[in-house]
Amino acid sequence: MTSDQSTVSLRDHVAGPAGTTRLFAAGSADFGSHQAAFGPLPAMDRARLIDELLQSGLDGRGGAGFAAWQKLASVPADGRRPVVVANGAEGEPLSQKDAALLHNAPHLVIDGILIAGRSLGAKELHLYAGAEQLAPVARALKERGEARIRLHEAPDTFISGEATAVVSAISGGMAVPGDRTKRLTNSGLNGRPTLVHNVETLAHLALISRFGSAWFRGVGTGSAPGSRLITLSGNTAGPRVYEIPTGVRLTEILVSTGVDLHSVRAALVGGYHGTWLAVDQLDARFSKEGLAPVGARTGAGIIMTLGSGACGLSATADILAYLAGQSARQCGPCINGLPAIASVFARLAYGDTNGKLPQEISRLAALVTGRGSCAHPDGTARLALSALTAFASDVGAHLQGRCEALR
Ligand code: SF4
Repeated sequence: MTSDQSTVSLRDHVAGPAGTTRLFAAGSADFGSHQAAFGPLPAMDRARLIDELLQSGLDGRGGAGFAAWQKLASVPADGRRPVVVANGAEGEPLSQKDAALLHNAPHLVIDGILIAGRSLGAKELHLYAGAEQLAPVARALKERGEARIRLHEAPDTFISGEATAVVSAISGGMAVPGDRTKRLTNSGLNGRPTLVHNVETLAHLALISRFGSAWFRGVGTGSAPGSRLITLSGNTAGPRVYEIPTGVRLTEILVSTGVDLHSVRAALVGGYHGTWLAVDQLDARFSKEGLAPVGARTGAGIIMTLGSGACGLSATADILAYLAGQSARQCGPCINGLPAIASVFARLAYGDTNGKLPQEISRLAALVTGRGSCAHPDGTARLALSALTAFASDVGAHLQGRCEALR
């Protein structure tokens, strides 16, 4: 029996999980535990699903943060068969939340794919993730006798999870970004309307379909409802994945996970394409609205702390060197601009006291921003600029031949 044969209406069997542990509420990856915790697959047509998602306020958990309802609604109902793609490729080295989800709750992601697919009338369903993450999904599909979802291995590169790269890889091409002016929901895989959602977004969609938007809003804040997965790493033990109420303060997240705030001098929020925040900015709430005033964003839910004895400039230089090597080498800003930023930043971090280096980094960052086919140059530039601000006193010290962090 496929899972589609046991369907129920919204909220007619079990209550939604109480508290913040929602995505992992089944406690085990097997189908029996999943069904006991969440019940059968709900039936939900397109209009109702879009409305429920709209009421829920769920936004994408892959990084860009688009409203989940809006993406679904933008798939045209024009007679062409749409395609649904679940994206579990975490190219970002600091992120492990999608891997944790696929290993511990694969059935919830499968539910999300099936519910989204059925609401759109999509017959073609795909899941794209790293090889290690495909294994638990394959087991889960076999367990429930579900053969409609095709699995695709994502290469272990930083940009392999970008939505156009995902579609290119699934169609047999390279996992590199394509034309970002083209809307995938209108013309994606083989020119067909294609809904690409992060796997965590689909797992939330599966729960909202069962328990409703009011239940989803039972945790989080009014403007940032629900729970979300984060990966916390840095000078604490880690990386570790947590499910948190959206919109709590960064300091609350750190303290509640056992981090001694006195040991932290800064945090990188949003991942390698994210923003360094100095310790006095960590009172910000972890949500789109909460982080905007300090120039940061949640990204894929990544927080990396920097210990009080570490140098933020050298940490940034190392990340920039990695990012410069991860481009698809298709566009000028990546071929020339990112290596130049990484090189100048490394000089600042590792001993060159030329006072013009910070201005040169800013100039190069402005040059590459908005000029690539994808957001890789923009994210890399953002990281470099945020380091100059968050570690302003270190910049001054380095230019005088000292390092503040290592005093
Ligand atoms: S901007 Fe860089 S990473 Fe993005 S498509 Fe162009 S070369 Fe590739």
